[in-house]
Amino acid sequence: MSNRPLEELRTQLDEINMELLHLLSKRASLVQEIGEVKKRQGVNKFDPEREKKMLDQLVAQNQGPFDNHTVRYLFKQIFKASLDLQIDDQKKDLLVSRKKQATDTMIQLGTTKVGNGTPQIIAGPCSVESEEQVFAVAKVLKEQGVSIMRGGAFKPRTSPYDFQGLGVEGLKILRKAADHYDLQVISEVVSPSDIEMATEFVDVIQIGARNMQNFELLKAAGTVNTPILLKRGLAATIEEFLFAAEYIVSNGNANVMLCERGIRTYEKWTRNTLDISAVPILKNESHLPVFVDVTHSTGRRDILLPCAKAALAAGADGVMLEVHPNPSVALSDAKQQLDIPSFEAFMAGIKQSIDA
Ligand code: PEP
Ligand code: MN
Repeated sequence: MSNRPLEELRTQLDEINMELLHLLSKRASLVQEIGEVKKRQGVNKFDPEREKKMLDQLVAQNQGPFDNHTVRYLFKQIFKASLDLQIDDQKKDLLVSRKKQATDTMIQLGTTKVGNGTPQIIAGPCSVESEEQVFAVAKVLKEQGVSIMRGGAFKPRTSPYDFQGLGVEGLKILRKAADHYDLQVISEVVSPSDIEMATEFVDVIQIGARNMQNFELLKAAGTVNTPILLKRGLAATIEEFLFAAEYIVSNGNANVMLCERGIRTYEKWTRNTLDISAVPILKNESHLPVFVDVTHSTGRRDILLPCAKAALAAGADGVMLEVHPNPSVALSDAKQQLDIPSFEAFMAGIKQSIDA
């Protein structure tokens, strides 16, 4: 039993705490330096063998009163915090990261600004099918004050026997309608060799969910100045999504917009599961504008409006949806596109919620 007064013991403990803090900080600085070396050498940050060796050494020298299990536990916490520090340092290096650029990236599309706090709607048919179809949609977009029209010309279809899109002909139709109604136009490109060509026709190039990790396509998208809308992969984590965007930005094109479009889960009552939590996370982690595609995420016309409202409430810079003059005969995604009266009702609902 110690006879020393409690105050004296506590003072000594405080001193040891300070020494420990000093040593932990010193260790953390060394860990950061090691992180830099590992990055240069392209070595994995987590090295389980090295961790095991350090723990074994510590336990071998342990003379109590903590038992070996506790010593392992305590040092594992320190190792975990150190690894997190290295990961955090690496995140700061990403060009798409909020840590690298605190201010929001704004993208100018004609007279329209994306990312300035005014929500933007991107709407149009799943696929470009004819001039008549695209003009009918463009007209209603103009009437509704929507300035960005979508339409697929190169369609990444699940079945090779399904309609594959009109290709360059489709891009020409989009451009013609967009010029006629003074709209901006966005269309998907699936092949790296088409990126340059597409810049002649579209104002935004879309990289679809199926190609989110088509690294050659991402690199090609980085070589042009045309803004890119990058969709989240069907089974991509948020981290993978941001790394995909980093491919484009690090190759020279800073005009990237992210688009959450639902991920695959076991849920069957929606086409995909709209990961609304991705919106505030992406906005926190990155300075790039964030859109939510309510059509491909839900696959259900009946819940587009509440999902769009949720997206905007969660901080999205805009919403994408599919509109077709006659969805029942659409050559792709017939079940999920809105007809024109339903689109008008959708717009009324959105405007009401924005104004409220
Ligand atoms: C699309 O927007 O036309 C499309 C195919 O979407 P996604 O890549 O998200 O499936
Ligand atoms: Mn579609």
